[in-house]
Amino acid sequence: MSALAPGSIIGILGGGQLGRMLALAAARLGFSCHIYAPEADGPAAMVSAYHTMGDYLDLDKVKRFAKSCDVITYEFENVPAVTAAACAQLSPLRPGALALEVAQDRLTEKTFLQDKAGIAVVPFADIINVYDVGRACKRLNVPAILKTRRLGYDGKGQVKINSEDDIESAYKALAGAPAILEKFAPFKREVSIVAARGIDNTFSAYPLIENIHRNHILHSSTCPAPNDNGAASAIARAIMDALDYVGVMATEFFEMEDGSLIVNEIAPRVHNSGHFSQDSGCCDQFELHIRAITGWPLGDTKPRHSTVMTNLIGKDALDWKKLAADENTYLHLYGKGSARPGRKMGHINVAGTPLLPKNSDS
Ligand code: ADP
Ligand code: MG
Repeated sequence: MSALAPGSIIGILGGGQLGRMLALAAARLGFSCHIYAPEADGPAAMVSAYHTMGDYLDLDKVKRFAKSCDVITYEFENVPAVTAAACAQLSPLRPGALALEVAQDRLTEKTFLQDKAGIAVVPFADIINVYDVGRACKRLNVPAILKTRRLGYDGKGQVKINSEDDIESAYKALAGAPAILEKFAPFKREVSIVAARGIDNTFSAYPLIENIHRNHILHSSTCPAPNDNGAASAIARAIMDALDYVGVMATEFFEMEDGSLIVNEIAPRVHNSGHFSQDSGCCDQFELHIRAITGWPLGDTKPRHSTVMTNLIGKDALDWKKLAADENTYLHLYGKGSARPGRKMGHINVAGTPLLPKNSDS
């Protein structure tokens, strides 16, 4: 398989900030991007050469878009299976349909990770009705978290069950959507691995990232995280091999008191916890993804200094002038109009201490 030459057209399904930063990275390497998204002028379309505004289920439009692209990728995991299949008929879809199928449904995801990839996940149960919740709470013990199988993000579609009294109201809150019950994991910290796998099975991962959530939304990520023994990266690699994955993937983990790792979920795309890489002195996750899906050599994922990424949520972004003046601070804004509460408007990367190469004796 040969590498796509500069000038080739990369199709991106989805028009948000991840698509925007992918398109900017692609432009740096001489590629043009074609965004397919339902919005008229989202963050990605604003910075891309081509844009088709369309519904993901308008398959005629999707096929016209796919014909114009040399490779197609996506910036969100909820691309409908029929849309992905229509694209894959006409152009290479990277990552492939299996990654989407697994990551779209929390039950399929946990079953795949446990049974096909042999990876530890929290104890879970399939939930179809309220009686299943009662039975599963008895079997797994509370506290537990009831989550919709599909379409949840930033903690949406999740309810915590602290005692049996919460079962009915929790089930009602999900409005009858197919769900999964997960045992609550009393983790010590949350960490993630952002890594790429190339079309020739090459693998490249950033060091371990430590993540702090506020109100179920990622607040900050620090890379490198202390105490990285390489185990998380090995697990991420095993999952990517099992999916025959091409591109950047994020793996979210719970690290338990005894140091063991449980995979929480995977994201078959660039990830918020990988934004630190933009200002860490190595190839950033967006360029890494573009390189992987176009068959280029994967980039260098060794940061030259530590970095703390903090999200600008809602009104945080109104401080842009002050943030722009701060030393060691790199400001990224997504071009979104209104700073609604909970909306990811941008992020900052703050550069920290230099990291010496491992084999350096100075
Ligand atoms: P989302 O798709 O919204 O990111 P997650 O499953 O990652 O959904 O849940 C969001 C956050 O909620 C996690 O990062 C973690 O802080 C908390 N959480 C989710 N599931 C569990 C669990 N089983 N045990 C403990 N905390 C959890
Ligand atoms: Mg998550």
